[in-house]
Amino acid sequence: MLKMCDILDEKESILREKSQEVTFPISEERKQTVKDIIEFLTNSQIPELSEKYDLRPGMGLAAIQLGIKERFFVVVHEYDEGKFDNYVIFNPKLVSNSEEIIYVGEGEGCLSVNREVCGIVPRYARVTLEGYDEEGRHIRIRGREELAVAFQHELDHLDGILFTDKIDPKNPFKNKEKYREI
Ligand code: ZN
Repeated sequence: MLKMCDILDEKESILREKSQEVTFPISEERKQTVKDIIEFLTNSQIPELSEKYDLRPGMGLAAIQLGIKERFFVVVHEYDEGKFDNYVIFNPKLVSNSEEIIYVGEGEGCLSVNREVCGIVPRYARVTLEGYDEEGRHIRIRGREELAVAFQHELDHLDGILFTDKIDPKNPFKNKEKYREI
């Protein structure tokens, strides 16, 4: 079972590196990594379990956050109370996006950023990604609102970008009025 201490902190320089394309078939070990991440993210969003295992709630994790420099991420989205959808995508690419820009009002969080960071991170309100599932089949996934934010946050990780990079430290709430808060 994955633990909080398995997740790299932002101070680790590998988080700034670009992850590499995954080649198929993927190993059994990697399939297990995916299962472990899904379990971790799901447990972290169930209050009794996050307390029991001492997990900080999170809905997404990119492989690089475990020190695995491969282009894939997992998002576990609680679409209804106690009900979760899992998204696992390898070699994801953003293929289309809305013009509308949103931001998370309470601020974005990241399991690798262990401090409070306030400010606006502009994100597309709706996105479509294309990539591959675990078996190497081509997939297309769509996300809107918080799910769209999660996808863009995780995509950034694959290129070594953290959400904190997108906040202007001198003016963290710059252009607030131009975007819609979620
Ligand atoms: Zn993150």
